[in-house]
Amino acid sequence: MMRESYVSEKDVGFKRIATDIGPVVIVGGAGKLGSLFAQLFTLSGYEVRILDKEDWGDAETLCAGAGAVVISVPIALTEAVIARLPPLPPECVLLDLTSVKQAPLAAMLKVHAGPVLGLHPMFGPDVSSLAKQVVVVCHGRQEQSYQWLLEQIRIWGARLHEAPAAEHDQAMQLVQAMRHFTAFVYGVHLKREHADLEQLLQFSSPIYRLELAMVGRLFAQDPALYADIIFAQPDALARARHYLARYQEALAMLERGDKAAFCAEFDEVAHWFGDFAEQFRSESANMLMVANDGRVG
Ligand code: NAD
Repeated sequence: MMRESYVSEKDVGFKRIATDIGPVVIVGGAGKLGSLFAQLFTLSGYEVRILDKEDWGDAETLCAGAGAVVISVPIALTEAVIARLPPLPPECVLLDLTSVKQAPLAAMLKVHAGPVLGLHPMFGPDVSSLAKQVVVVCHGRQEQSYQWLLEQIRIWGARLHEAPAAEHDQAMQLVQAMRHFTAFVYGVHLKREHADLEQLLQFSSPIYRLELAMVGRLFAQDPALYADIIFAQPDALARARHYLARYQEALAMLERGDKAAFCAEFDEVAHWFGDFAEQFRSESANMLMVANDGRVG
């Protein structure tokens, strides 16, 4: 699917921002996200070299004269792979696409004295284009030397969001780790309850269909990636325990048949969401309209 959707752009390609830099080496470039970026760099006229797990014997040759080295390997291997890099040209930009940012950034700053940049593309390899997608940017060192790369990513259509690595990792805990973890548990629950998905879909309103799609799409992807995203967060366990405690509090309300407490808590959360609650209501109404149009079956 991804390949097909880029076919149209292949004829035209993208504007190339840096005309005088050496090849772009993608470590893990045979993987899902790495090959998407390999394709984008190629479509923009850069020479792309892939350094995957069987290629370490040629690492020095592959990295010779590199203008940028992109790390896109499984999260759990990232730091070890960075430590294994041969010395890079001083002006080479060393960057990574890892879903966590603090540890890879620190590892890159340690092995390379030149420009270092941490990126987190907030999308998977199944996107048909980067339009409206977000890439989080965590600055490492010598920002001026990698402005071309950021501009190149903007040309591909993405919006850049700058954040300190610690802040990114903190936010990801809720945006990714906890969300995927609760979706995982919900999936386990549906399975254990022997839920009949066909039947659920017959009964369900568009909003439930969307919710089910959000959970179900997780299981169409790579378990190892999600395991890494969830398990790589240092405070994942504490966060999940907090969540469980809140679930138990809510369960106690249910046990007591305490509708009043439920409504009081509901009001407090609604107040906390403030204007966002109404904004989300109207945004989701639009999403549902679009989702309904794009329904398969
Ligand atoms: P993947 O498993 O598809 O690709 C990883 C690649 O790394 C494979 O080609 C593998 O052969 C290679 N590799 C493994 N060990 C290696 C080694 N020692 N040396 C060189 N190459 C090695 O994984 P992916 O989904 O493409 O994820 C790669 C990175 O992208 C991860 O850091 C992940 O957090 C990040 N990311 C992924 C997504 C996503 O949705 N897939 C989204 C955002 C960020």
